[in-house]
Amino acid sequence: MRNRSTLQDWIAAHPGAVSIVTLAVPFAILVIAAVETGPSALVSHFAMAATNFRDYFATVFISASFIVFFAVILILERLRPADPDQALLSRGLFFDAGFSVVSLLVHFLFVSLFALLFLNFFQRHVPPLSNLIGHWPNWLRVIVVFVAVDFAGWLSHVIRHKVPALWHFHALHHSQGAMNLMTEFRLHPCDLLARTLTMSFVFVLVLVPIEQAFVFVLLQKYYLMFLHANVDISYGPLDRVLVSPRVHRLHHAIDPDLHDRNYGVYLSLWDTIFGTFLTSSERTIRTGVEGFPDERGAAWYRMPLIFLRQLALPVAQAVQSVRAAFTAQPRT
Ligand SMILES: [Zn+2]
Ligand SMILES: [Zn+2]
Repeated sequence: MRNRSTLQDWIAAHPGAVSIVTLAVPFAILVIAAVETGPSALVSHFAMAATNFRDYFATVFISASFIVFFAVILILERLRPADPDQALLSRGLFFDAGFSVVSLLVHFLFVSLFALLFLNFFQRHVPPLSNLIGHWPNWLRVIVVFVAVDFAGWLSHVIRHKVPALWHFHALHHSQGAMNLMTEFRLHPCDLLARTLTMSFVFVLVLVPIEQAFVFVLLQKYYLMFLHANVDISYGPLDRVLVSPRVHRLHHAIDPDLHDRNYGVYLSLWDTIFGTFLTSSERTIRTGVEGFPDERGAAWYRMPLIFLRQLALPVAQAVQSVRAAFTAQPRT
């Protein structure tokens, strides 16, 4: 196996070009799409966002299926813990539950708006490709969309690790030292928006009916919650194809050499192909980000302050790294 991914290294070496193609261009498309869509559609989107948020929140967290899922995860955490010293109802679990409200709000206010605008734009300006996949059998379209979205998720993840300004936002997700199923929602709003922009090219393909898209996202959320739980589960040789909790835990390792691996969402096949797959027989991997504000062990009354610092610090760090990039001397 190659020790390093050439694609990963290329992205790290060209953060400016990557940012223009994957952030600035999609952002320009959003602006054009917003003008084309018109203000009344945008206003009605925001009016619907609150209802959609409430419905989704109720479906994901206040449902019999979530209670059963939560109970199964707690049993697995008891039977096969990655960190046996971690409490089942840890401080991190409650903290990340708080982040779930923030990230779902951002999702329904802005991520879904971006998705709507991209779809409008691509349907208006890229008709041949839309027509091509639109006539395929449903099952084939679902498979193609699944593979395309998964690859886009993988690529976006690599970009958010290797472009320094974006890493500061994504670091919040990695900063959890007590991983739990809610860590999936421990996302900075800017990380979520960067993810949407960098994945926007797949919206050309995403033409599945909205009910299916909802089930798709819901299943993905459950799987990702399972991946972040405090469980040590490996699929053996299949880890190279499908991401297991052990594989994703390595991605959250505090050691930077380990966390620049295993970027897969569902499929680790992309990591296997591009040379970023890593496995380990070591069960207890310490997770987190050195120097990031940590809620664990702090007094309860300081929690709101730590929560705000976790949101504010990446903004300051990202601004600093953009400024440093513009003032850096060219390499000779
Ligand atoms: Zn990551
Ligand atoms: Zn993760």
